[in-house]
Amino acid sequence: MARDVIVVGAGPVGLMTAGELKLRGVDVVVHEALPAPTRQSRGASFTRRTAECFDQRGLLGRLGATEPADSHFGGIPIDLGMLAEDHHGHRGVSQFRTERMLEEWVGELGVPVLRGREVTGLRQTPEGVVVSFAGPGGPGEESAAYLVGCDGGRSTVRKLAGIGFPGTDGRRGFLTADVTGIDTRKRRIGENLPGGSMVMAMDLENGVTRVVVHEAGTPPPRDRGSLTFSDLADAWQRLTGESLHHGRCRWISCFTDASRAAAEYRRGRVFLAGDAAHVQPPAMAQGLSVGVQDAVNLGWKLAATVRGRAPEGLLDTYDAERRPVGEQLARNARAAIELRLTGEEMDPVREVVGELLAHKDAAEYAAGMLSNLGVRYDLAKGDHPLLGRRMPPDHTLTLPDGTRTRVAELLRTGRGLLLTTDGAAAAHTARHHTDRVDIVTTTPTDTAATTPDTVLVRPDGYVAWTAPGTTDDLDQALERWFGAARTAL
Ligand SMILES: Cc1cc2nc3c(=O)[nH]c(=O)nc-3n(C[C@H](O)[C@H](O)[C@H](O)COP(=O)(O)OP(=O)(O)OC[C@H]3O[C@@H](n4cnc5c(N)ncnc54)[C@H](O)[C@@H]3O)c2cc1C
Repeated sequence: MARDVIVVGAGPVGLMTAGELKLRGVDVVVHEALPAPTRQSRGASFTRRTAECFDQRGLLGRLGATEPADSHFGGIPIDLGMLAEDHHGHRGVSQFRTERMLEEWVGELGVPVLRGREVTGLRQTPEGVVVSFAGPGGPGEESAAYLVGCDGGRSTVRKLAGIGFPGTDGRRGFLTADVTGIDTRKRRIGENLPGGSMVMAMDLENGVTRVVVHEAGTPPPRDRGSLTFSDLADAWQRLTGESLHHGRCRWISCFTDASRAAAEYRRGRVFLAGDAAHVQPPAMAQGLSVGVQDAVNLGWKLAATVRGRAPEGLLDTYDAERRPVGEQLARNARAAIELRLTGEEMDPVREVVGELLAHKDAAEYAAGMLSNLGVRYDLAKGDHPLLGRRMPPDHTLTLPDGTRTRVAELLRTGRGLLLTTDGAAAAHTARHHTDRVDIVTTTPTDTAATTPDTVLVRPDGYVAWTAPGTTDDLDQALERWFGAARTAL
């Protein structure tokens, strides 16, 4: 029997997508080419907004101890301390730990993660999609109503769906390794060297050091599979004079400064999320983070569609909301790399940008891009500053029985949320949406300080509607985002 959704790829984004779907009762399966999880550290930090997304599902605490991430743009530090709101991301969590946490979560929810299954073919029919795969038991086919390609930067799904991937090729190669047994001086956000070279060394967990080397003028190697640790140690020694040759290498790779964003995030019944939809140099440390936010944006919309509750056009808002974010990330990452690695001729620009970032407004704007707290979707008419922005998950509320709670905790069900100090009127308007939206009455003193009387929050945590002092068009907002009222179904 056909599934509701097939997710291709059990990286962080595929797992998050599957969890978001299953949380809402969707029959979802994950196909993953690798026979077993990797131990790759890759994305060892994530942004403030991604931490909030994990928190909204009760997942942040499962990651264990983290520390605040550094904030810089192209190596130019941003003083987050001067901002009113905490924009710090988290660091110190190797990607395999994030993946393990997510795989445990989707396992508890009951999502099958089928490993050793490489998707090789895809065709769309009017009713759904059919994928071909090579698996441990030989080739096979599976069909579903929808498919989400979370299969990384070289996405087979993207190519099979015929979706373009415009952007720039990688011109620079960055040799990267996780090494034990070395005690080189740490350069956590990296150190620029004359002529556009750079070296970085930062602690991961358990005595592992991540080292990165870029020698100016060195393109990515043609055959990355043949890279050895000696190649990296030689380059490190040429640039710093220090020898790392005695270190024990756990993982070596080479990333590039290629930046691309998919021309479409949706084609028919096929969606792209994460690196399949956007690649960028890790200079911004954002690929995993923005991908997880793609998953959180798509999950509830696709689930509502599968369950026959989605309003007209809801699924199209995925591309409309997330593609600009992916395109901005690809552009910003290119800007950060050029700022960082272009030679001495960039020095005056670096000075000017540094001066600008010392101003609170500029720092707040840049920090909004780096933390992803600056994301604002075009969700409703009106000029209230919360409209289209994420509802701060740490905002604390007092319930009628005196219990204190946070917005993040109220979003854990994965449903919409109507926060109101005007219980009777708002509850009356939303009475036919209570199967999709939780109505939470709070005390006026709590909300008056930072939020208006009534706020409609989407399941991904973004404010879809608010209009201080009235609930006049709340019914339209409910229908726009959550579908027809129950009586009309
Ligand atoms: C050195 C380095 C440092 C980084 N640091 C950060 C950071 O600090 N913060 C951050 O946010 N990001 C960082 N990133 C980026 C981050 O690692 C990626 O953005 C992230 O892995 C993307 O997740 P994903 O799930 O979209 O894709 P992936 O992690 O690439 O997962 C894709 C999955 O799909 C599977 N797959 C592929 N093809 C098929 C197929 N045909 N059939 C079935 N399965 C398939 C793959 O095996 C893989 O498991 C870094 C990247 C690198 C290289």
